[in-house]
Amino acid sequence: MNIKQDIEKIRSDFPILSREIYGKPLVYFDNAATTQKPSVVIDALTKYYTEQNSNVHRGAHHLSNLASETFEQARIKVQKYINARSIHEIIFTSGTTESLNLVAASYGKKFIGKGDEIIVSELEHHSNIVPWQILCEQTGAVLRVIPMLDDGTLDFEAYLKLLNPRTKMVSVTHVSNSLGTIVPIKKIIDAAHELNIPVTIDGAQASAHMAIDVQELGCDFYCFSGHKTFAPMGIGVLYGREELLEVMPPFKSGGEMIKIVTFSKTTFNDLPFRFEAGTPNVGGAIALGTALEYIQDIGLNFIAEREKALLDYLNKQLSTVKEIRFIGTAPEKTSVVSFLIDKIHPYDAGAIIDRFGVAVRTGNHCTQPIMEHYDIPGTIRASLSFYNTEKEIDVLIGAIEKVKKMLY
Ligand code: PMP
Repeated sequence: MNIKQDIEKIRSDFPILSREIYGKPLVYFDNAATTQKPSVVIDALTKYYTEQNSNVHRGAHHLSNLASETFEQARIKVQKYINARSIHEIIFTSGTTESLNLVAASYGKKFIGKGDEIIVSELEHHSNIVPWQILCEQTGAVLRVIPMLDDGTLDFEAYLKLLNPRTKMVSVTHVSNSLGTIVPIKKIIDAAHELNIPVTIDGAQASAHMAIDVQELGCDFYCFSGHKTFAPMGIGVLYGREELLEVMPPFKSGGEMIKIVTFSKTTFNDLPFRFEAGTPNVGGAIALGTALEYIQDIGLNFIAEREKALLDYLNKQLSTVKEIRFIGTAPEKTSVVSFLIDKIHPYDAGAIIDRFGVAVRTGNHCTQPIMEHYDIPGTIRASLSFYNTEKEIDVLIGAIEKVKKMLY
């Protein structure tokens, strides 16, 4: 098969890609917000609810055993996908936000105190800022911020200067959702580990685009969301090094996370269940396992090559429009491009682009500090996935020309 046939075949895996919006073919360029779902994932969810639906780990009957087994197989698929040492290190959460909150609340509560420092970066999504800020307010710890340079890369020298014996956590994104910058997390982790400082990685924007090997990275925590990885909403992952998870206090409490409950004392369950209070999103976890297998079938090398080709084409075509101002031009990027059309407000541009059936995101993308850095209200963001095409990029460019005609 040639590449065109490959892409056509891949696109046919995603039912939503063949629908129309305002009578025009959908052009879905909002993959950083959430990815579309292939039929195998939708089928896995349907199969779970039509054939297996039952509560897990209660072992009383056939269906419950079946659901528990499939749920635990999904955990193994996640473990393999990120190359974790053990299934004890894979905690199912509702998404990246919950995973980050878990680390901040649980690890933070026990190991971070007054006068300690937590390092985040100017590139972070709000969900990797606010939980740490709340922890700082509760404990008297101090939030320190790695500044970014104007091209959207992190100032690594400034980071090295921020590290000091009071630093008790470094929490940075793997990839910026607003700018697409790929952060050199291996270097960040190595520098922190020289001072025995743990590192949390927000992998929300990486998990669908590149191979993740938590052992090779050496990170202490790694978080990602199912829905940005071709799986359903409401399921996500926290990877944590077992030695750390073992000594962390519970985050949420209730059923599942306990061993014995009496009114005088409760003992907690083993990993990973200690951090999975209440009924989990069993169908979501199973469908996440299927989504990760789907990605592996397509191949992460193929995905990286294809998305690089799309990024280059998008940049090239946007560069032909002289009013375009690129926001974030880091040399290492995923297929995310943020831009402005001269002085036109991104919301106005987005509303017109939408009428062409093109889904782009406008606004601050939950990264207000980045917008503050550039002193802009927001950007227009096109975030592409391997199922997008050059032809769709041409439709976007046509829509931008229309924006100029209408708003100038
Ligand atoms: N971090 C980054 C970098 C993100 O892009 C997002 C989602 N936009 C999140 C965290 C939060 O993910 P979720 O809403 O799936 O919890």
